[in-house]
Amino acid sequence: MASHIVGYPRMGPKRELKFALESFWDGKSSAEDLEKVATDLRASIWKQMSEAGIKYIPSNTFSYYDQVLDTTAMLGAVPERYSWAGGEIGLSTYFSMARGNATVPAMEMTKWFDTNYHFIVPELGPTIKFTYASHKAVSEYKEAKACLLDQSHTCCFLNLPRVWTNRSLSFHFLGSILPIYKEVVAELKAAGASWIQFDEPTLVKDLDAHELAAFTSAYAELESSFSGLNVLIETYFADIPAENYKTLTSLSGVTAYGFDLVRGAKTIDLVRSSFPSGKYLFAGVVDGRNIWADDLAASLSTLESLEAVVCKDKLVVSTSCSLMHTAVDLVNETKLDDEIKSWLAFAAQKVVEVNALAKALAGQKDEAYFAANVAAQASRRSSPRVTNEEVQKAAAALRGSDHRRATNVSARLDAQQKKLNLPVLPTTTIGSFPQTMDLRRVRREYKAKKISEEEYTNAIKEEISKVVKIQEELDIDVLVHGEPERNDMVEYFGEQLSGFAFTANGWVQSYGSRCVKPPIIYGDVSRPNPMTVYWSKTAQSMTSRPMKGMLTGPVTILNWSFVRNDQPRFETCYQIALAIKKEVEDLEAGGIQVIQIDEAALREGLPLRKSEHAFYLDWAVHSFRITNCGVQDTTQIHTHMCYSNFNDIIHSIIDMDADVITIENSRSDEKLLSVFREGVKYGAGIGPGVYDIHSPRIPSTEEIADRINKMLAVLDTNILWVNPDCGLKTRKYTEVKPALTNMVSATKLIRTQL
Ligand code: GLN
Ligand code: ZN
Repeated sequence: MASHIVGYPRMGPKRELKFALESFWDGKSSAEDLEKVATDLRASIWKQMSEAGIKYIPSNTFSYYDQVLDTTAMLGAVPERYSWAGGEIGLSTYFSMARGNATVPAMEMTKWFDTNYHFIVPELGPTIKFTYASHKAVSEYKEAKACLLDQSHTCCFLNLPRVWTNRSLSFHFLGSILPIYKEVVAELKAAGASWIQFDEPTLVKDLDAHELAAFTSAYAELESSFSGLNVLIETYFADIPAENYKTLTSLSGVTAYGFDLVRGAKTIDLVRSSFPSGKYLFAGVVDGRNIWADDLAASLSTLESLEAVVCKDKLVVSTSCSLMHTAVDLVNETKLDDEIKSWLAFAAQKVVEVNALAKALAGQKDEAYFAANVAAQASRRSSPRVTNEEVQKAAAALRGSDHRRATNVSARLDAQQKKLNLPVLPTTTIGSFPQTMDLRRVRREYKAKKISEEEYTNAIKEEISKVVKIQEELDIDVLVHGEPERNDMVEYFGEQLSGFAFTANGWVQSYGSRCVKPPIIYGDVSRPNPMTVYWSKTAQSMTSRPMKGMLTGPVTILNWSFVRNDQPRFETCYQIALAIKKEVEDLEAGGIQVIQIDEAALREGLPLRKSEHAFYLDWAVHSFRITNCGVQDTTQIHTHMCYSNFNDIIHSIIDMDADVITIENSRSDEKLLSVFREGVKYGAGIGPGVYDIHSPRIPSTEEIADRINKMLAVLDTNILWVNPDCGLKTRKYTEVKPALTNMVSATKLIRTQL
């Protein structure tokens, strides 16, 4: 019985790669220094897997920036603007594509399936030429082989991230790409590889017949180069559609199939009903997307049941997907208590779990290890820290019923306007103001108890008063307090809610050297005390203009956390919604008339399969409405979203029933506005961002005025708001002040023309 790991985090247990990369980019260290850190990290990962007893150890899961960019480099698909001279692609061209350089901007980045990992999107234009231009896959394979030579393990393999990243790597180019893949395969074979893994997560998406045919013909084309090799095709992140499963398992040159059996309840039925004889099944039972210890007894019985369809020596225990989507090593967690730690497994622990399962299947069950796991599972089920009866009841009561404000949005807007008395085209910002070094230091010192509560409070108050004054001077209509007390829009709330735990080193790569540290939701969520009321009231007391209360919405908190797996996601979301509802009501009672509930991550929670969209959107939107269904008509509820491509979910957005929505728009007016041009009726307030806050560039008054005019061509004057794209926390005051000055002047100019 064998074990296999799909892929492993490359940042290192203490983000060693991040620091090495950033130091190299800053010119503080050499390429050799960077390469040394990378080599050491790879070696330690291979050794760790080997020591754990993993049979199929992956190579080429490392990357200096992104595995898709590595594939782009392998194919020599360097866009012209990087003036690549040919030959083997070096670090300088590679990082220019990833991050841009002094003269040329970076390539575009987008989310990897439904994860929080971002990849660099290949640019395949009509003039693109492919050549084999990065031998990384082969050199990494050789490196792994050398590293593991003195071990008893024989099989290493290559992780050639899929031919199809998404539709953008269009089928049109397959003919030119395949010869390069053949070359790589041949070289790997010559280097001694006996297994090659192809990652094809695209296969879990809804593909049409044309796409499936292209898939079949691509692998048919590669088949000749597969002789003498074992080829594994890995799929993950969701159930594989039946048609795709049929296509995949009909490939003749392939030896093995890997499936995500954690998010694949239906996939396992497909496997049970028919699995090609003589092929290997890589059963992804250990979850690569969360931080929970596996329920080993349950996984073992799943695996045993599969022995009825796959012969014993062809059943391989694996992870559901690459472990790069989970944290690295629990060993470095000093803040978590032992009870919570016993419930968790990060990548390093998951490697051990996979191997323990394989051994158990082979009749060598480590009884003590399994018994400890049973005890941990039981403690998690029965711990009073997990269960809060009251919360359970309140959340259960929400199911099946609908919650929305009693009055319709246009009547509400009238009632609000009587109270707020805002000018036409009201101006506002999204929440945060620049986070200066001083500010970060104050928060850090307070956390480390180096300054007193009083000193901290005074420093934050001073910052708020500065931000309020700036906004008054700029003549902005609806103000924000600037969020100086928050390090992160989810962490800030999670730290004050019950049922959340925080790690010290639970980092997950988001893009390049950037990592996030998602909170862990382990128990029923409740809000013991108000979280933002003090600061919002303080801010409101400093001005006679309306001050927005600023909250993060339940769906965003859920989507940016590691969520418990012992109840459905919607259940947890409803609990968070109830906690935020209490906050909303306390803000209202505290005299806050405008409350913004950010749902920055609502769209990214969309399931991969279209058939599951409606269910998700239904509970996600319902959760948002629960937070504010109880407020008076005169309380204005805003929401904010960080994307403009919501053409497909516009009806859900309308169904959120917010009074005002501010959204990202600046990178494309057309996309967003086309929704309204096509006749979607939108009656609530809407503020499509008038300039891009992701860039230091300061937009001119004319440019902003021009954008506002474009919006007025499709939207009613009385619903349009004027605001930037997103929060200003990553910008400098020297950028923010002139940009907002121009935003207000543009608005005033247009007001005179109405
Ligand atoms: N209110 C938050 C801010 O301004 C919103 C951030 C976001 O949408 N990502 O920072
Ligand atoms: Zn945003």
